[in-house]
Amino acid sequence: MEPIVVCHLGVGSSALEDPVKAGLLDALARDAALAGYDILSPGNDGNALDAVERAVNVLEDSGIVNAGLGAIRQTDGVQRRDASIMDGSTLACGAVSSLEGIKNAVSVARRLLHYSSLNEKQEGKQGCNFYFCGYFVDEIFKIHREVIPDSWRVAGGRKSLDGNATNIADSNGDITGKEGAGGGEGENDQGGDLTGGDTVGAVAMDARGNLAAATSTGGTRGSYPGRIGDSPVIGAGTYANRHCAVSNTGRGECILKMVAAKRACDIVALEGMNAMLAVDKMHREHDSMFPGNASRIGTIAIDASGNWTACFNGARMAWAVVTPTARFHGQLPGEKESF
Ligand code: ASP
Repeated sequence: MEPIVVCHLGVGSSALEDPVKAGLLDALARDAALAGYDILSPGNDGNALDAVERAVNVLEDSGIVNAGLGAIRQTDGVQRRDASIMDGSTLACGAVSSLEGIKNAVSVARRLLHYSSLNEKQEGKQGCNFYFCGYFVDEIFKIHREVIPDSWRVAGGRKSLDGNATNIADSNGDITGKEGAGGGEGENDQGGDLTGGDTVGAVAMDARGNLAAATSTGGTRGSYPGRIGDSPVIGAGTYANRHCAVSNTGRGECILKMVAAKRACDIVALEGMNAMLAVDKMHREHDSMFPGNASRIGTIAIDASGNWTACFNGARMAWAVVTPTARFHGQLPGEKESF
C-alpha cells in the first residue's frame, strides 16, 4: 500500500479574521503531515502508529494550537490536556484526560497503549486499562518505573503570534497559568463560540496497510476543571480498526453522544462506503441530531483502500495530507491546493 498521513488542526473560526494566524496554522499542518510521513517513507518504513504520534507531537510542540504547549485554560486558569491514540491493526489504544504539566499528552496515551497491550500479551488478559486521568498518570508511570521524559514535561502558555511564549512554566516546571496571567488570545472566552478550535489530530496508513489515529486537545473554551470531551474517548474523538482510521474535532459533547469516530468506521465496514462518503454520511447524521451553529464537526479519515478525506462543517479547519505522489492542504470549505 502507499503510505498516507492526514492531519487536522481543529474545526472553528478563530483564524478567519486573522490572516497571520491562518498562515501559521497552514504551515504547521504541512509540517506535521510531512513529519508523520517521513516515518513511513521508503527507507524509514515505519508504522502508522509512530507516524500519527509524530505528527501530533509536532502540533503539540508548536504552541499555536489548542493542544500541548498551546492548550487553552479551563475556568480555574489551568491548562489540562486530553489525548487518545489507536492502532487499527490490533485495536490497542491509550487515552488520557485532564493532564497537567505534560505537554505531549498523545505520547502518554501511546505509553498506556504499549502497557495495556504488553499486559495482554504477557498475562493473556484481555481488557487491560487504557484510560487514565490526571494525577493517576504520574502514579502509573511510577509503578512501571518509567519516567515521563523531561521533554514532555516542559509546559507553558500559548505562544503569541510573534513566536514569543506568553506564559512559560514556573521554576518547578509546573504550569502555573492562572486566568489573566498572560495567556494567549481568546482563552477562556465565555462568548458564543463554545468550541475550543485548534484541537489537533492525525490518521495514517503505513506501507503494510495498517491504520492508526490520534487526537490531542486542550478542550473547549470556558470549560470547568475536569471536563472530558470527545478527544480522549476511544470511539468518539478517535477510532481505528482494519477498515478505517478517524480523528474528529468539534463540539465534544455532541461527538461523544453519537460515538462519531466509531460510527464512521462502521459505515465503511458495514455499508462498504469509502472514507469520504462514510464521513459525509456521519456528518449528516451529526447535523440532524445536533442542528445549529454550536454543533460543528470536522473529521479526517483513511480507509483500508487508501481513500482519505478531510471534511468539516465549520468555517475553517486547517488540514494537510502527504502520500508518495501527492501533497495537498486546505483550510476553508472546498479549498484543496498542492504543496
Ligand atoms: N472536540 C474538542 C473537545 O470537545 C474540541 C475541539 O475539537 O475543538 O474537547
